[in-house]
Amino acid sequence: SATPATLSAISNGAKNGVLFKGGAAMEALSTMDVLYSDKTGTLTYGEFQVTDYEVDEDILKEVVYMEQQSSHPIAEAIVNTFPELDLDTVDQTESVEEVAGSGVQKGDIIVGKPSVFDSFEDVNGYRSKVMEGNTMVFVGKGNEIVGYFSLADQVREESKQAIDGFQKEGIHVSLLTGDNELVAKKVAEEVGIDEYVASCLPEDKISYVNDSQKKGKVVGMIGDGINDAPALANADIGIAMGSGSSVAMESADVVIVKNNLAKLFYSFKLSYKLNRIIL
Ligand code: ADP
Ligand code: MG
Repeated sequence: SATPATLSAISNGAKNGVLFKGGAAMEALSTMDVLYSDKTGTLTYGEFQVTDYEVDEDILKEVVYMEQQSSHPIAEAIVNTFPELDLDTVDQTESVEEVAGSGVQKGDIIVGKPSVFDSFEDVNGYRSKVMEGNTMVFVGKGNEIVGYFSLADQVREESKQAIDGFQKEGIHVSLLTGDNELVAKKVAEEVGIDEYVASCLPEDKISYVNDSQKKGKVVGMIGDGINDAPALANADIGIAMGSGSSVAMESADVVIVKNNLAKLFYSFKLSYKLNRIIL
């Protein structure tokens, strides 16, 4: 059972909007060696703006209908960009499948990350669209690419300082994102992370966590999406953003209610100090 010092740290965390699900999570945090971080919605606000798109109106209606069924921040941005569309012509009997970390599919229409379309013949014409460090979504119908969306997101105000704090305490921080290489690099540079992995699938995120654990590291993982949930569950300390999907919060040991990474760093320092006092 938790010591009085741990309980006091948990209660202090709660006052600061960092909810620990138990004493073990608080104690594990103080021994963390490695912190893996998701990008979208975690280091960034996850509030995308559609900056450019190209798709004909019938397909656009399909895309908006499909994205209405997804909880991904990209889906929300696309849906909100086209509020006036009349979706009556869309066949709503056909089901929409969400593939975590990839996109959505309905019949022969796929909306998702560029790498999903690697085997499509006309992909090269669209590759040039993946520029300027924007998040990209391609639209495919059958075996053809029929459109794209380019979206921009912003790094959270507190991200750089919090990451810097962890690094100064000797924690190795690494970025794991499902997004493309250019965006991954841009965000990593902006927040001061040297090591990043782009085009990461949910199972890749688990592999990084498990591989570090096999090397004897105490591993923290922070994320917000359904694509992060398995890695959060596998990590020694799974940390979810309060704005995240409910499955991420259920899989985590710690929830940052107001998404403020600086508060997590504060809790880390507190747990660390307490443990030094006890031991
Ligand atoms: P991150 O790891 O940075 O949080 P995700 O793994 O959630 O990113 O998503 C990776 C990529 O998959 C996105 O950049 C996007 O291209 C694509 N994607 C994921 N979900 C959707 C969706 N609902 N609609 C369109 N594209 C999506
Ligand atoms: Mg995310």
